[in-house]
Amino acid sequence: MAEQRTAIVTGAARGIGRAIAERLAGDGLAVAVVDLDEAACADAVSAIRAAGGRALAVGGDVADPDSVGTTVERVAAELGAPTVLVNNAGIIRDNLLHKMSLDDWEAVMGVHLRGAFLMTQACLPAMREAGFGRVVNMSSGSALGNRGQANYSSAKAGLQGFTKTLAIELGPSGVTVNAIAPGFIQTEMTVATAERMGFEFDDFVAKYADQIPVRRVGQPDDVAHATSYLVSEGAGYVSGQVLYVAGGPLG
Ligand code: NAP
Repeated sequence: MAEQRTAIVTGAARGIGRAIAERLAGDGLAVAVVDLDEAACADAVSAIRAAGGRALAVGGDVADPDSVGTTVERVAAELGAPTVLVNNAGIIRDNLLHKMSLDDWEAVMGVHLRGAFLMTQACLPAMREAGFGRVVNMSSGSALGNRGQANYSSAKAGLQGFTKTLAIELGPSGVTVNAIAPGFIQTEMTVATAERMGFEFDDFVAKYADQIPVRRVGQPDDVAHATSYLVSEGAGYVSGQVLYVAGGPLG
């Protein structure tokens, strides 16, 4: 039997990351559930173990180089060298440009861009050693522009450039690098957006669903399914792509 691969999913305590962690464990990978608060990862890890999978909860901050170093070392020691990485951790600090603080700009750049850079760099030796790697970066439909999200849309567009460049650099090492750009996905992040805009969540969902070609908003499992494909062994000839998971064409 082939050796079990180890995946790291960041921001996996809840939402899209949790769905990805559970899906990859179901696909047969050992999964490190990484999030800021280790205790918050317990439910995801229990669900994976209850379904017969292998998982480890790791508290870590993707924007902090020391924390990234210890996170990846711990995963390698306790689960196996990570050759699959899903850079999913994310935050929003929405505001119109004239009201956006430098802290809100830098916090968003820190988690999305610096986080993806640090995590990918830290996992790269294991991927090169194995001659195999899969990196998936969580971009967003907001990369195309979204009012109130100058920081977030810049970071998400930046992740697309990061993805394409790494696909070129790492392809010769057997590593594919792709991005997923979700549209509206029902999670705590979109609940917070509805609140900020002064909508009841159900009204917000209905308003969005009406504009989406498949006439529904997305669920975390929609993104997990796409991730499962991109990290699969058979997807080795797909690299540098941005897959919009948005119920219709974006981009
Ligand atoms: P979510 O429910 O807010 O979950 C994000 C998770 O990331 C949280 O558990 C959060 O922890 C964690 N996190 C934040 N900063 C971190 C850090 N520095 N290090 C480690 N973990 C950190 O968000 P989601 O909706 O599932 O979104 C997941 C990803 O998809 C994000 O990159 C988001 O930008 C992207 N996305 C979402 C949508 C959508 O419609 N929901 C659409 C497009 C793209 P705390 O709770 O402790 O902060």
